[in-house]
Amino acid sequence: MNTVSSLFDLRAARLSLNGTVGLVPTMGYLHEGHLSLVSRAKAENKHVIVTIFVNPTQFGANEDLSKYPRDLERDLSLLRPLGVDLVWMPTAEVMYPSGYQTWVEVDALTSPLEGAMRPGHFRGVTTVVAKFFNATQPTKAYFGQKDAQQAAVIRRMVTDLNFPLEMVICPTTREADGLAMSSRNKYLNEAERKAATVLFRSLSGAKALYEGGERNAETLREKMKAVLATEPLAQIQYVSCADYDSLAELEIITGKALLSMAVFMGKTRLIDNFVLG
Ligand code: AMP
Repeated sequence: MNTVSSLFDLRAARLSLNGTVGLVPTMGYLHEGHLSLVSRAKAENKHVIVTIFVNPTQFGANEDLSKYPRDLERDLSLLRPLGVDLVWMPTAEVMYPSGYQTWVEVDALTSPLEGAMRPGHFRGVTTVVAKFFNATQPTKAYFGQKDAQQAAVIRRMVTDLNFPLEMVICPTTREADGLAMSSRNKYLNEAERKAATVLFRSLSGAKALYEGGERNAETLREKMKAVLATEPLAQIQYVSCADYDSLAELEIITGKALLSMAVFMGKTRLIDNFVLG
């Protein structure tokens, strides 16, 4: 496994790879969710490139950039047995050298949900992912359903900017009690960690109504809120039942839909979602 930081070394290493390349972009502090993407990339491509970069431009001023968890040695030891060819760990100076002023922005899809709560977040995401695509030239790129809007926004960017690659969206990996794996789960204290299963329970409650034939989106949103309200440590930021493609809030569910939510558990902001239909 080759590990590089500079763009020069990345390009040289990329040139030595012949055949299909799967790319898995991450911010590190890897867990089973990340590793499921890497395993899928390995199964579907001759080579795998993983990027580890805590991208400053996708964090808001009041967010957790400086305390975002990092453990590079552990990350590399998790990736080595999976047969990863190349790990690119650029510094912020490599990605955004002095004088940097070019941005990639996706329009309407970034307005609701995470985009509404985290102004500028997706501009940072699409810019850095576009740069990763340009630098690594992958055949396929792997993202998690856990970040549903991110996957939708990047898919839009790939189509709109004609990136010659295939997007692969992988299912959300969960803990045994249903909590979606996330690097940010590390912030939870014991009580918050227990309480955090309420996101999964709330999504499951709404899904059960849907499977029982309920198609009124407001009824599903109310169900999610009601379950979340049973957990005193949970503070709802948003709860959504939206069209899967446009992410616009629905009144009646007629096609594929996305149930999603952002919930503060103490100071830690957690997101989760289910796809319906
Ligand atoms: P991050 O390091 O949080 O930026 O995540 C890197 C990639 O892993 C993104 O495409 C995420 O959607 C994906 N990911 C994060 N958590 C999970 C999970 N629990 N299951 C599947 N994919 C995940």
